[in-house]
Amino acid sequence: MNYTEILSSDRAKIEKRLRDLFGFNVSVFQLSNYALGCGCTGLTVSPTGINIDDLEVFKDHIFPTVIESAHDLLLDPTIAYAIVGGDAGVSALHLADYCDRCAVEYGGADGRPRPDTYVIANFEGGKSDKHLSNLRSRFENLIRERTGIPVYLLEMGVFALRCGCIGISTFTRGMRRDGLDELLNKLDKIAEELSIDSDLLYATIIPGTIEVMTLNVKHLCEDCRKRYRNPRSDIYISRWK
Ligand SMILES: [Zn+2]
Ligand SMILES: [Zn+2]
Repeated sequence: MNYTEILSSDRAKIEKRLRDLFGFNVSVFQLSNYALGCGCTGLTVSPTGINIDDLEVFKDHIFPTVIESAHDLLLDPTIAYAIVGGDAGVSALHLADYCDRCAVEYGGADGRPRPDTYVIANFEGGKSDKHLSNLRSRFENLIRERTGIPVYLLEMGVFALRCGCIGISTFTRGMRRDGLDELLNKLDKIAEELSIDSDLLYATIIPGTIEVMTLNVKHLCEDCRKRYRNPRSDIYISRWK
């Protein structure tokens, strides 16, 4: 299996595990592998239908599957934490391999990266593969070179969605629309390296401005293909393939 096939199959595997435990109203709508500008890398499981108590009580039954998935993606996490909403529902389960700075920063305050965060486990970890981090840096340098501005690439994430879509999303700060099409083509080359056979290149723009928020390359499922034919107003379609 190649990298994105692993991501898709692990999404299904984690969903199956959760459904075995909690029933069919639980699903995992996205599994993504990310690299942040600070050097952190991680895996995000985005579930629907489970709450923080489910996760706490059944963690010994859930974690082996999630950790296995992290290892499949050459990620060696140091912490597992959940993002929890006001209704106690878990919106994301993160397995992160912190960079040195974040490890120090989140060491205090019960290790809580954010106030809506529940730390579930800590691991030895710390020996993650740097490939995705390197791709993020490479793309950030390229954007800076081409635009001449110190754009910050906050995050590069590779995702597999439940609907069948796969792709890369990046979150930018300080980027304008200049040179957008060329940069999306460069991102598509990175997608090719990760064996993503994309069919849509697009950006999202902060409404009423020329500021770019995200750059995206996607291989779309049938339903999403129809949806993107009539995109939201903040979406700039660069190219269909
Ligand atoms: Zn970090
Ligand atoms: Zn889709």
